[in-house]
Amino acid sequence: MATMKESTKNNFLSPLAISLISVFVLTPIANALYDPKQKSIAIITPVLRFFSYMWQYIFNYKVSVWIILLILVFIIFILKSVEKLKLKEIESQVLNTKKPSFLRYTEGVLKEWKWSWKYDIDPIRNTFEIVDLKPYCTKCDIKMLVDAFGDTYTCPNCNHFKSVLQTPSEHPIKIAALIGNKIEKNEY
Ligand SMILES: [Zn+2]
Repeated sequence: MATMKESTKNNFLSPLAISLISVFVLTPIANALYDPKQKSIAIITPVLRFFSYMWQYIFNYKVSVWIILLILVFIIFILKSVEKLKLKEIESQVLNTKKPSFLRYTEGVLKEWKWSWKYDIDPIRNTFEIVDLKPYCTKCDIKMLVDAFGDTYTCPNCNHFKSVLQTPSEHPIKIAALIGNKIEKNEY
């Protein structure tokens, strides 16, 4: 994926980069190295000649305002195009990324109680975690309310009461572990 990303960017930039380099770098270099008196490429102090030419080229007379504006427009165009490409890439990645099928597995009986849960992304470990794990009321099949300590549940409809302390085998940590195990073994 990373290689694909890089190659797209390079393919896009190279023609523009090449024309910019040839116009604004290679031409002055060639001119700087060319000795008009001897009508050949200078061999004596070409480095000094190059810098003196570049100095004149950039600061004295060769670069007019419109060239600078043209360069700015080019740079803005390149930046905007790269930004657009990146957005398209992200869009296609989102569209192509298939959601894992277990995300549809959000309720079930693991031991005796029926539970429901959701998934959230753990940004640090970059994995899914089970959240909002709550049992259903046995009588009404309604999601129960959990107390502040997370060990008792009450039905909002019939006040049916479940306690993890009385039924430790239904502890949500164990239930979450069982759900994780089923997902790992593809048994949901
Ligand atoms: Zn109930």
